[in-house]
Amino acid sequence: MEAPLILSNHDLRNTSARLAVLGIFQKYTYALSHSNIEKELQKDFDRVTIYRTIHSFLDKGIVHKVMDDSESAKYALCVDECSSDHHHDNHVHFKCSKCGNSECLNNIQIPLTNLPSGYIATESNLLIEGVCKACS
Ligand SMILES: [Zn+2]
Ligand SMILES: [Zn+2]
Ligand SMILES: [Zn+2]
Repeated sequence: MEAPLILSNHDLRNTSARLAVLGIFQKYTYALSHSNIEKELQKDFDRVTIYRTIHSFLDKGIVHKVMDDSESAKYALCVDECSSDHHHDNHVHFKCSKCGNSECLNNIQIPLTNLPSGYIATESNLLIEGVCKACS
């Protein structure tokens, strides 16, 4: 989908910072950290703008967090119909031990687990580590 359309579908105005950050997410197939994005855009936008932009994307359901054990948080584009406060990214993430990149395996769902009574799941994360397609 075109970047301006993604923004308007998620109730965000088109700004140059949002279009630029979204463009970076669309360019890479793996999850990106704040510093990855800053490196690409440091000539055009300051850190605070980039930080705020990523967080507005997280709020609006454009990107989701990828928990991959790295020191810094990483984010990847949502493919499902995520919306404000309502993410449906129930897929497995894969971290490559060679290149260090983490990707979304969007077609592999995290299996539902039966929790003991009294426990309510709100979110689950599943990280598989190994060697990715590009490195194997
Ligand atoms: Zn999402
Ligand atoms: Zn790899
Ligand atoms: Zn993901």
